Amino acid sequence: MKIQVDDREFVLMLEYEQIKKRIRLTGIQIDVDFENKTPVFVGVLNGSFMFLADLMKEVNIASEVTFIRVSSYEGDTSTGTVKQVIGLEKELKGRHVIIVEDIVDTGITLEFLIHELRKQEPASICAACLLLKPQSLTKEIEELSYIAFEIPDDFVIGYGLDYNGLGRNLKHIYRAGRVPSET
Ligand code: 5GP
Repeated sequence: MKIQVDDREFVLMLEYEQIKKRIRLTGIQIDVDFENKTPVFVGVLNGSFMFLADLMKEVNIASEVTFIRVSSYEGDTSTGTVKQVIGLEKELKGRHVIIVEDIVDTGITLEFLIHELRKQEPASICAACLLLKPQSLTKEIEELSYIAFEIPDDFVIGYGLDYNGLGRNLKHIYRAGRVPSET
């Protein structure tokens, strides 16, 4: 199935039913791993909102949720792009933290987030991502404990992920079709 979003064509990659099945398994794993603990899910906005909502519905142990954003801005030439965590309202000291990301591409964002959240001295910290692009990954992130799907190095949208702000509402996940210059 092909769809058009803004100026690009996308093709169906993962159907919602498949996504739900994998998330159910992730929820079960978290229930087992965090039995008798009360983890705090830290959703990374905007992209994780659908994944986080479905994931938390599959988690039955007591748990809390909070949200953050990562803002990026251009630093001076020596620092390149500078990232900053914004919106962290919850005290994470002594808590079991599960960072929830939509997609891990190079891993730079997740590595940065783990580094920043560790400053609050949580009891433990790990991450769950919906999608991982192993071919793009430049970092070894041992805290990445839960991965719903590994995908090829394509640009994807839907189920929270956007292209130029559009497509987050799509129920399924789509990958970019070839642009004419690639053929
Ligand atoms: P990383 O720091 O791991 O390279 O990139 C992570 C961020 O890049 C994600 O949170 C997401 O915002 C963006 N990103 C990476 N790959 C894709 C993609 O295929 N589609 C969309 N919509 N965003 C992506």
